Amino acid sequence: MKPFIPLRVYYEEVVKEYKQGKNLLKKYEDMDIPLKPIKAHHKIEELRQRPNKEFTKMKKYLILGTRKTIRITPNDKSADFIVPFTSSGCTASCLYCYLVCHFNTNSYLRVYMNRDEMIKKVKRKIKKVKEHKVYELGCNSDMVLENTITGNLKWVIEEFGKLENATATFATKFDFVDDLLTAKHNGHTQMRISINPKEIIRKVELGTSSFKKRINAANKMFKAGYKIGLNIAPVILEDGWEVMYENMFMEVNKLLLPKLKKQLFIEVIFMTYGVSNYYINTESMPKAVNLLDKGKMRPKGIGKYTYRNKYRNPAEKIIRGYINKYLPEASISYIV
Ligand code: SF4
Repeated sequence: MKPFIPLRVYYEEVVKEYKQGKNLLKKYEDMDIPLKPIKAHHKIEELRQRPNKEFTKMKKYLILGTRKTIRITPNDKSADFIVPFTSSGCTASCLYCYLVCHFNTNSYLRVYMNRDEMIKKVKRKIKKVKEHKVYELGCNSDMVLENTITGNLKWVIEEFGKLENATATFATKFDFVDDLLTAKHNGHTQMRISINPKEIIRKVELGTSSFKKRINAANKMFKAGYKIGLNIAPVILEDGWEVMYENMFMEVNKLLLPKLKKQLFIEVIFMTYGVSNYYINTESMPKAVNLLDKGKMRPKGIGKYTYRNKYRNPAEKIIRGYINKYLPEASISYIV
């Protein structure tokens, strides 16, 4: 996979006040990429009005702006707190992507220049909380992907490296980790590599790194001293899923470094699928597989579907069995 080169860049004028913003605009201007000023990254009228079928085209755009609201919220899964950090959106087009439920067709990558403001807020929070806590940096984006554009992940890892009582965490479906291997993380960052069976990555996680590359990235990061987790997400109960997931765990066992497996923690998340995913996928990627199976799924809240307990509960038992069989030293953080 090649690093992302945008088809067009939209930018808020304010980004010119930041060194990073100036450098990025200059870089893209030198590459002859069209640059378009906008008033606000969340109100780009000409993109809002585009039809669903333009979803994948819009994923090739990059938006530069500043994050206006920085609210750190409590969490009880992968982290204690979620930090809205320097990006939202993504260049990939996973068919189930949760971002589509938030941003609809406008889930293209937006990068925010005001990282100093964000880290200040995090530092204030850490001081106030006092106890050791884990902070999620990539709740609305993939920070490893963003890092190829801004270097912000390496920067924030080093910032956390200097802090007491705080661990940074992020999940990724990309393997662009080389830049992070030399970061002075001081053991204060953990990476969760998100995986699925190869067949699912190929058909469903469009525009992300391959299974082998992700596992390789996990090994490299472990050798560089990071704590590593596996994020099995989302589990998709397609026909033949039992065999696909068993093969995946067998391969993980074969490919992960033995020492890594000893410290491994695992998160498992069953798929939630949005009605907005369904309409956008059908119109923008008509040949893609349909993940909405109303026979196996039930409504969950407004506009979302999840697996009925009749299918989910036995599947959880089977997945736990695979983990016990193929990764017996790993700990399961949660299954939802
Ligand atoms: S990599 Fe993550 S953020 Fe990007 S499209 Fe896939 S699920 Fe969404």
